[in-house]
Amino acid sequence: MEPSRSDYQGMKRLNDNRTPLRRAGWAAVVYLIAGFAWIAFSDTAAEAWFPDPQALSLVQTWKGFLFVLTTGLVLFVVLLRQLTKDRALLTLQHNQRQALRKRERQLQVLMDNLPGMAYRCRYDPHWTMLFVSQGCTRLTGYEPEDLINNRVVSYASLMDEGDSERILFEVQTALDNDESFSLEYGLTRQDGSRIWVWERGRGIEEEDGTVVLEGIVLDISDRKTLENELEELATRDPLTGLFNRREMSRVLEEELERARRYQRPMAVLWVDFDHFKDINDTFGHAAGDSVLRSISRLLQSSVRSVDSIGRFGGEEFVIVLPEMDLEEAQETAERLRRKVADEPQPLGNDQTVPLTISVGVAVYPDHGQTASTLCAAADKAMYLAKERGRNCVAMAHLHDQVHNQ
Ligand code: GH3
Ligand code: MG
Ligand code: MG
Repeated sequence: MEPSRSDYQGMKRLNDNRTPLRRAGWAAVVYLIAGFAWIAFSDTAAEAWFPDPQALSLVQTWKGFLFVLTTGLVLFVVLLRQLTKDRALLTLQHNQRQALRKRERQLQVLMDNLPGMAYRCRYDPHWTMLFVSQGCTRLTGYEPEDLINNRVVSYASLMDEGDSERILFEVQTALDNDESFSLEYGLTRQDGSRIWVWERGRGIEEEDGTVVLEGIVLDISDRKTLENELEELATRDPLTGLFNRREMSRVLEEELERARRYQRPMAVLWVDFDHFKDINDTFGHAAGDSVLRSISRLLQSSVRSVDSIGRFGGEEFVIVLPEMDLEEAQETAERLRRKVADEPQPLGNDQTVPLTISVGVAVYPDHGQTASTLCAAADKAMYLAKERGRNCVAMAHLHDQVHNQ
């Protein structure tokens, strides 16, 4: 809001270096000089002009009246001016106070209704809060007083530990470029639950040179959940919960790149159920689905946490085993084969059915150096296992290696 003309005048008066004492002193001096001069001059003149004592006495009386009248008039004008100014100043102050109160009220309403919290904090490792809006309680579970000046807990201690370095870097970069920053990070609430928040803020330099951060923090957990669900949908096979073909191909490329970089071996197992069609034909498609889910769980629980397993299609699964050479990979494949063969699979109606798998094994770099050549070699080996009578493991032949162009 632009300051009005009366604001300027008020400020000018405040900045005036003629202090009230000096001004009053000057007025008194002028009054005294004028008064003394008047008394001295008028008495001398009256005595000269009116030698008759009776007439002189009358003149002196009228002279006194005139003096009182003149000074009274001057006093009236001066006081009127001053009181008018004072009244204008008081009105101005009152209006300003009203406007300020109104703005504060609007700001308060805005802050209290933010779908998160507004804050002002020191730029220090604790994110020491100097102010937080009421939304703090809804967002973090803590009362504003608990957070301000780290009285009960520091805001930084609520942030996910793994995020702090990234957050610091992003804030510092924004400060260096005099820009605002946007962050996303996990936050632990007072009750121990974890939420995702989005923060937007900006660094402000104080008069003493210290930097404070001001901004807002919003709860974006719902959006994050949705994002994760969408990601799950995009990367997981809905029936078995394993990686889908696309995600598995990505994982394979990623692991292959790592194996290449560190010159480590890596194995690919190609798994196909034996005579699965018969299960569908005999017990129905739903029973087949139940077997698919059960074997998926079995395979998943039988590999290491670093291994990845995905459904490539139908009842074909690909397992990527990082850091595994030919011999270890064959042992793992054999172990999986035995495990499936030893455990009858549930059909979803309290009945079970025995099932076996055929597994083809290919290893990087022996049987292929790209994802497609490795997969082709493992798939071919799986068909070899089928030819050998199923329920067995077959290694890709070294001469199967497809030359990588
Ligand atoms: P083989 O030993 O030669 O592999 O014989 P197979 O019957 O398993 O033959 P194949 O692998 O070619 O057949 C795959 C069968 O898997 C065909 C299809 O009916 C079944 N199948 C594929 N996807 C699904 C699925 O999502 N659910 C169910 N229930 N069956 C599926
Ligand atoms: Mg099959
Ligand atoms: Mg098949």
